[in-house]
Amino acid sequence: MPFNLKTKLSEVKGIGAAKQKILKKLGIQTIEDLIYYFPRAFENRGNILSISQLKKIGKGCIKSHVKLIHQRRSYKKRIFLTEAIVSDGKDSLKVIWFNQPFLKRALENKQVYLSGQINSDPSYGIALINPVWEIVKKTPPIHTQGLVPIYPLTEGISQKQIRSLIWLTLSKIPSLKDWLPEEIKKQYGLIDLKKALSQIHFPKNVKELEQAKQRLKFDELFLLALSNKIIKKKIKEKSAPIIKFQEQITKNFVQSLKFNLTSSQKRESWKILKEMEKGKPMNRLIIGDVGSGKTVVALIAALNCLANGYQVVYMAPTEILAQQFFDRAKQYLKKVTKKNICLLSKNNYLFNNKKIKTKRTLVNYIKQGKADLIVGTHSLISQKNPLTFKNLGLIIIDEQHRFGVEQRAKLVTKEKKDFLPHFLSLSATPIPRTLALTLYGDIDISYISELPAGRKAVITKAFKEDEKEKAFELIAQRLKNKELVFIVCPLINPSSKLEIRSVKEEYENIKKRFSEYKVAILHGKVKSEEKIKTIKDFKRGKINILVTSSLIEVGIDIPKATTMLVENAERFGLAQLYQLRGRIGRNKKQAYCFLFYKNVGNAEQRIQAFLKAKTGIEIAEKDLLLRGPGELFGYAQSGKSVKFKLIDFKETELIEQTRKIANLFLKKHQDIKKFPLLWNKIKEYLK
Ligand code: ADP
Ligand code: MG
Repeated sequence: MPFNLKTKLSEVKGIGAAKQKILKKLGIQTIEDLIYYFPRAFENRGNILSISQLKKIGKGCIKSHVKLIHQRRSYKKRIFLTEAIVSDGKDSLKVIWFNQPFLKRALENKQVYLSGQINSDPSYGIALINPVWEIVKKTPPIHTQGLVPIYPLTEGISQKQIRSLIWLTLSKIPSLKDWLPEEIKKQYGLIDLKKALSQIHFPKNVKELEQAKQRLKFDELFLLALSNKIIKKKIKEKSAPIIKFQEQITKNFVQSLKFNLTSSQKRESWKILKEMEKGKPMNRLIIGDVGSGKTVVALIAALNCLANGYQVVYMAPTEILAQQFFDRAKQYLKKVTKKNICLLSKNNYLFNNKKIKTKRTLVNYIKQGKADLIVGTHSLISQKNPLTFKNLGLIIIDEQHRFGVEQRAKLVTKEKKDFLPHFLSLSATPIPRTLALTLYGDIDISYISELPAGRKAVITKAFKEDEKEKAFELIAQRLKNKELVFIVCPLINPSSKLEIRSVKEEYENIKKRFSEYKVAILHGKVKSEEKIKTIKDFKRGKINILVTSSLIEVGIDIPKATTMLVENAERFGLAQLYQLRGRIGRNKKQAYCFLFYKNVGNAEQRIQAFLKAKTGIEIAEKDLLLRGPGELFGYAQSGKSVKFKLIDFKETELIEQTRKIANLFLKKHQDIKKFPLLWNKIKEYLK
């Protein structure tokens, strides 16, 4: 049956339902998935040797004839032994396999390649033990000789099976049109796609493997860069509200703050204000370390839009954060503008200081333009009730890595096709600049590169489980000083299986241990109203210790909290730990972070990396290496089908270079539809 890249494996003869299920577990459902399932490593099984060479070297591959083969049960252990005598015409050799009783029938009197190690054992004599075997065919051997690919696998499928499947697919696939333009391949010395795919699995030598990697890495980066550029261009073709800089109001706002803006905050605010004056949609991401004060920058942008008579939407990933922004906006913005501020989150509707009974009322206020600044959570984009606005000027998405990249689309009404509101997203995920330019190439980036003056680095210490009392004493000192403490656990409910601390258990323990203090509990399952009340009480110091889940990871700002204890820190990713720790050290007092961890897997290495890293960027890089980019950039949730398989994010030069090549290419060919294969590929990619 003819097939192409998009053919489903279920339509291919010879792959049964059971195999399909296993392959699906590996993320392989189509022919394309299969041939893009790259090896994790290679084993060099060497050139074909003669039997006498093999006997000398002790390890390698031979081509031989199976003269004799028989099987028996060994007397010592009750295992199957298959014994054979093979010959290469000159010499012969004994071969032994354990527990593979089907081999007799498979190999009897056949020409075979065998790859393995010679052993000499008093009970067997000199023999090749458990070699990998493969029947000699017209095509070269794929399992026993040369560079043999090793795949990441799951139970139910063997290396040999997947290798054969990929080999067969590659040899049967009729044609694979290369979408990469000839001129690019020529100029940068890249090999053809089909060749690259076949060499990435079955290279004859290291050079072929390198060529293949070079080509396929290029593909990953080039497509990303091109699509980003295309999106960017499309956005810039539209128009947007002209937001005139409101000097007096902005000054009043800045003077009303209890602090002076840092120079990063000033610089980036100014950039944003200038950009919004132009009548072209701003599409900007503010990246700034936790606690660097991104909110103020967003408030300045919001204030200017409001003062120009436009509505502003602010969306946060959690109710607590939405509430926090709502409170800040009321506190700061109300002093300088009379605009109405509303909050729309799950079952919590506020209009200025008033509680609103139904969502519908609020939705109407928004539609009529009675609500100017609309603060909320995911509820803002709930499918049932798409919001309509009177005149939306700016969308702000906080902690954007928590959302997909397509959130704006859901907030922008469809009627006005050529008109877009401005868009500002905020993220504390520290991304190295070159990487950010590539990953977020469709967005302009602002870096808030410094923390407000006077902040001290958080003192971070790691403790093994049995050193708990030490940490508790340190915590007791902080509490005596009237400072607030977070205790973070990875689980909410106790679990007997996992031996991991849960919020509920720890809450009871902590209440006993620190009985003279007020302890409260907080996690995702707590009712919204209670959550918000607890946070408020904690902020005011009515609660001293908050035992909580990683719910507090994002954005919460409680300046008086100076201390954090993380249980089972090994369960958290480095970036997540970094975010968690970002909850403390938000004022001039010295802050402390204590990590309890169990030394499982690479925990020790990761915790040490965390302790050593000085900046968020360093953590990001380490996390990239240890966990891959999906986690870090939230691409997994974003729906953007970036399949980085080969790129190592340390290859900043390659990343940078490819982006430049993509830019040059677009400059040269204004209309890339002239390259229909490439254009199709990009369309597929953008989907
Ligand atoms: P993040 O960038 O993590 O969102 P926030 O905007 O929540 O940080 O700011 C963290 C804390 O720092 C807040 O309490 C905020 O009021 C305060 N802050 C912001 N800018 C400054 C500044 N320039 N000087 C001092 N404190 C600041
Ligand atoms: Mg924030």
